[in-house]
Amino acid sequence: MGPARARALAEAGFVTVRDLLFHLPSRWEDRRAVLPVASALAGVTGTFRGRLSGMRRLRTRRRGFSIVRGTLTDDTGSMAVVWFNRPWLAELAEDTEQEWLLHGTVRETGTGIELLNPDCEKADDDDPVHAARIAPVYPAIGKLGPAALRRIFAMLLDGIDLERIPDPLPAALLARHGLPPLGEALRSLHAPGLDDDPDALARRRSPGWLRLIYGELLELQLALARLRQREQRILRTRRYRVDDGIRAVARGVLPFRLTGAQKEALREIVDDLRGPHPMLRLLQGDVGSGKTIVAALALVVALENGYQGAFMAPTELLAEQHFASLRKLLGERYRLGMLTGSNPDTPRLREALAAGEIQLAVGTHALIQESVRFRNLGLAVIDEQHRFGVLQRDRLGDKGDHPDLLIMTATPIPRSLALALWGDLAVSTIAELPPGRTPVATEVLPAKRRREVYRRLREALAAAGTEERAYVVFPRIEESEQVSAASAASIAAAGEKVRELLAGIPSAVLHGRTPAAERDRIMRAFAAGEIRALISTTIVEVGVDVPEATWMIVESAERFGLSQLHQLRGRVGRGPRPSCCIAVHGPLNETAERRLRVFGETADGFRIAEEDLAIRGPGDLLGVRQAGLPAFRIARLPDDVEWVERARDDAAALMAQMARRGKAPA
Ligand code: ADP
Ligand code: MG
Repeated sequence: MGPARARALAEAGFVTVRDLLFHLPSRWEDRRAVLPVASALAGVTGTFRGRLSGMRRLRTRRRGFSIVRGTLTDDTGSMAVVWFNRPWLAELAEDTEQEWLLHGTVRETGTGIELLNPDCEKADDDDPVHAARIAPVYPAIGKLGPAALRRIFAMLLDGIDLERIPDPLPAALLARHGLPPLGEALRSLHAPGLDDDPDALARRRSPGWLRLIYGELLELQLALARLRQREQRILRTRRYRVDDGIRAVARGVLPFRLTGAQKEALREIVDDLRGPHPMLRLLQGDVGSGKTIVAALALVVALENGYQGAFMAPTELLAEQHFASLRKLLGERYRLGMLTGSNPDTPRLREALAAGEIQLAVGTHALIQESVRFRNLGLAVIDEQHRFGVLQRDRLGDKGDHPDLLIMTATPIPRSLALALWGDLAVSTIAELPPGRTPVATEVLPAKRRREVYRRLREALAAAGTEERAYVVFPRIEESEQVSAASAASIAAAGEKVRELLAGIPSAVLHGRTPAAERDRIMRAFAAGEIRALISTTIVEVGVDVPEATWMIVESAERFGLSQLHQLRGRVGRGPRPSCCIAVHGPLNETAERRLRVFGETADGFRIAEEDLAIRGPGDLLGVRQAGLPAFRIARLPDDVEWVERARDDAAALMAQMARRGKAPA
């Protein structure tokens, strides 16, 4: 292809033929049967073949809007054709000998029938793109639309022999599930045969689809199985002593009494630490359930035994907060250091970490960089793991001598899926909130009641003095740099309006572009009560802990996912005073309405997770990611859960087989 196209593809991340082959059609048009024009009835969708005549562009009043009309004729008759906004088609009339394939829907008009806005291609029987067949329609890649992509793919498929692509999966496995080899699967999606079932393609249930879905899920399950097996094979080298002395230290650290659920989780963790293999445990608990203190106590065990600890958070803001709260809990007894991408002390901290001078390192991704060395890392805690992707924890696992890993998540994975996905990964669940919490009163209100909402907020904050604080959250738009600059500006403007509504209440606006130092200052002032209303984008979403915050107002609530709303609500209701969350929304479509209804009805994180997935339905990869599941390229949950199970069983069998042969799993 030409350099411009190659560049457009490369910019979108498509560099190799393989990259392109996994860019799958989003739908297929059944063009196998060419309908005679005489059979065209209103409402029929299909392909017609004939010559075009009388092509002309009509004038319209609306700027940027054009109409082209013409007539399609075959051996059986003629029919009017109309196209909107494709002015270049007017030229088609020039060659009256050329036959065209038109695919579209026939509609009734006052004066007869016409074919509306059909796709149109030269009928060239030698060219596979133009023949009557099941035609793939590709999602755009950058500027390259479906038509350009179909041509690119036709050329690509012509130039390679897909059947000869080696399939990494054992033939016996494919045979067992009745699946075709990889090359055939790809061929069936990019260039379906005349006998293929377009309905099965559309439902992602054709053998080709299932081969790709299964392949992706098997890859994940093998990676998980390998991780589990590695942990199970390795004998721990660290010995943790847990005696009265350490218990006394732990009690000294505790600012409150643990709940029963926290105690139970801690007991499970300590049992793991004293077990024969390195720990790999998921600690899940709803927002505000108190996971941090459990992790801190586990760290006490490691540190008291002379090992180093690591605590990894998904964002700098969170790392800073965890650093502050862990320093408050543990700072008198241990040396803590913070490693983030932007921390200027980092090189020095790295040395101190490698020398063992720092006992507990708190940080972001920076902690798992190649160059970071620990002297004797014992226990690593990863907070809000879904942000890191499922398997990145492997990287932290490679630091030190197979450190114990505790992974915390506040986004419960629906039980049905958790079982399928994680299988026998050890999970502790804190299903109880600390005492003294009153449930957050949730209201869902239309935007026309905004003024009233802010009047209530202003009065409440004025009456409560520094005892209460509020978050006002706007959705963040985040695509390109430019958009985020624009969105930062618009959030700044919206934030200023809110500040006017809150006249008299000390407030501040925070967004993705606020410089780190300024953000820091604002967060600190908010925690201290000097600022009482924090107006921001979703950077407060995960983990922020200010117990005095009792108000949460979510603006444009219809633009948030259900799990995300739930996370936001978890920022309030963390102290003894009653809290409320008001979701203010604009016009609602059906799913947004359902989301907000569920949000108003329940505060049960597990129910929210199940509902979130059900509402999003298949096809919302981003949503699936937000629900705490790994991001699949091809598979979709919950649709493909049956294949998760098959893949899991096969992965286990493969691992066992390789172990018998004495091979390290590849
Ligand atoms: P999350 O599980 O969302 O990470 P945190 O660990 O941030 O929750 O805890 C939420 C809040 O509850 C914190 O202010 C914490 O100090 C407090 N907390 C945790 N456990 C208890 C407890 N047993 N009793 C009282 N307060 C607690
Ligand atoms: Mg937390």
